[in-house]
Amino acid sequence: MSKVVKFGGSSLASAEQFQKVGKIIRADKERRYVVPSAPGKRNKADTKVTDMLYACYDLAEQGKDFSKELEAIKARYQEIIDGLKLKLSLDKEFAEIEKNFKAKAGNNYAASRGEFLNGIVMANYLGYEFIDAATVIFFDEEGNFDAEKTDAVLSERLAGCKNAVVPGFYGAMPDGSVKTFSRGGSDVTGSIVAKAAKVDVYENWTDVSGFLIADPRIINNPVGIDAITYRELRELSYMGAGVLHEDAIFPVRQQGIPINIRNTNAPEDNGTWIVGSTCQKSKYVITGIAGKKGFCAINIEKDMMNSEIGFGRKVLQAFEENGISFEHVPSGIDTLTVFVHQDEFMHKEQKVVAGINRLAKPDTIDIEADLALIAVVGRGMKSTRGTAGRIFSALAHANVNVRMIDQGSSELNIIIGVANEDFEAAIKAIYDIFVLTKL
Ligand code: ASP
Repeated sequence: MSKVVKFGGSSLASAEQFQKVGKIIRADKERRYVVPSAPGKRNKADTKVTDMLYACYDLAEQGKDFSKELEAIKARYQEIIDGLKLKLSLDKEFAEIEKNFKAKAGNNYAASRGEFLNGIVMANYLGYEFIDAATVIFFDEEGNFDAEKTDAVLSERLAGCKNAVVPGFYGAMPDGSVKTFSRGGSDVTGSIVAKAAKVDVYENWTDVSGFLIADPRIINNPVGIDAITYRELRELSYMGAGVLHEDAIFPVRQQGIPINIRNTNAPEDNGTWIVGSTCQKSKYVITGIAGKKGFCAINIEKDMMNSEIGFGRKVLQAFEENGISFEHVPSGIDTLTVFVHQDEFMHKEQKVVAGINRLAKPDTIDIEADLALIAVVGRGMKSTRGTAGRIFSALAHANVNVRMIDQGSSELNIIIGVANEDFEAAIKAIYDIFVLTKL
């Protein structure tokens, strides 16, 4: 058995956190490949090293003096090196970074140095080999992750290597320049390394003991999720459930490698298992609830719409022409509604309306703003009668008016649209009926 272990920024924010991480890695020799993030916040008021790097590079790009800012970043690493009593100097690396900042190497390069340097510290601390991600993780000409090339190079590299540290968050473009994934992208690197090394488990260590049924900012002390399928998680993370980067499930999912989310500050907790499928029933009918505010509904009416072939395509073409992706499209006999992100739609609103008028010639178009969407997700819903009934009676009791309902044919989720101001009350009502009341 072998494992990839990825540690998030808060797990590596200080020497003390590094020691916890070292203990976790050494406790299990199957933990062979380590993917570190950059040092995160040591306390609430602190700044992540990645953000310090972005700010520092901003100055460099404007041709301003950035020496004080770079010194502050260096001090973050020095504090860790001293705390761990390592015989390691990053002077050479910092001189190179300074030179490249002056040469305006780009903010992707700048941000990636957080993981790069932390990888060097981590490898030194563990006595593992350091593999620069720019030599094993690749993007194509368009800047998309190149899975094929990466897999070929990385798996060969890892095959000859018992233990290694591969920094998260970045790789290289075909011309050799550094490119990062989007924020939180070390989770993606962990998944890529797990796939290439063909490990049995991808452990993702963070500062919470896995996923919770609902957002703790809305529900006081919500229950944790023991096991969740990739598909369920996809629905929940799309709707804003944080913890893991949205794209992190794809590489491991292809290989059926489970992800285990664990807590560096409570390593005895089992955390959450993310799996392909499981016979483990979730404790409740639902696995999780997540949602987002800030949607718009564009209601389009046209008599006899039901018999006009191609009407839906014409309407959606107006969105496509303006580069707007749609979220949901519930329809009636003579009505069709398109849900979109308000911030994306707002500036192009009249262009889209004109497009719909031109392409589909509807009778009326009516726009409703400030809506929230809530996804109630659960593999158990398929085999349980009355789930929708319970959701809607709970919402009615909580005085929440439901503006839209959409149930996917997979019966994995029910999406509910409510007014932004009813968002929290709706989530509370659904949580209460399934988790607290447990009818
Ligand atoms: N350090 C990067 C960020 O702050 C990537 C990561 O931590 O995953 O987004």
